[in-house]
Amino acid sequence: MRLLLVEDDALLGDGVRAGLRLAGYAVDWVQDGEAARLALLDQRYDACVLDLGLPRRDGVAVLKDLRGRGDATPVLILTARDTSADKVSGLDAGADDYLVKPFDLAELQARLRALTRRAAGAAVPILSYAGVGLEPAGKRVTLNGEAVALSAREYALLHDLLAHKGRIRTKSELEESLYAWGEERESNTVEVYIHHLRKKLGAELIRTVRGLGYVLGETP
Ligand code: CA
Repeated sequence: MRLLLVEDDALLGDGVRAGLRLAGYAVDWVQDGEAARLALLDQRYDACVLDLGLPRRDGVAVLKDLRGRGDATPVLILTARDTSADKVSGLDAGADDYLVKPFDLAELQARLRALTRRAAGAAVPILSYAGVGLEPAGKRVTLNGEAVALSAREYALLHDLLAHKGRIRTKSELEESLYAWGEERESNTVEVYIHHLRKKLGAELIRTVRGLGYVLGETP
């Protein structure tokens, strides 16, 4: 299980990371909201532990951005302020759970177990086509029931194509699903990842529509 820990307090972050590593999690630790946003764009996490008071971009903004992209990564917010307004704004923005500082590491671990269990239980394939299943809750992809490992960008591209099944997606529309604003775009990225997806999921899955783009499924 891979976790993103977002905490600007160096002492607390270091302690929580060490504790979660001991519990067997792979932990990426970032210390500001902008780094969190980029990490969540770039990498699939099983859960995110998100402090609310952060430099550069506050936790609620990070969460709103994540949910705004349709990303259902389980998020547990940490708040130093035991006010109901804080919890409510975090939960309204799409948090799955919260803990008030100071908290017990064992309690954080128990809540993360519950969160990731719920996410796995809710992992019903809601997007599927021709033997390919995509479970947005757990960000899992299967081919004829077998798990297929995809990179974050391969997953993003497949998610876009499945969500727009039967519709031609232009290269620039597909690039939007791969890059954040201001992120430098490499040429041929879409072609490269389409190539990877065809190798992993079958050459027939994604059709090239010459001069227009790509389509998954039959166009009407
Ligand atoms: Ca903080």
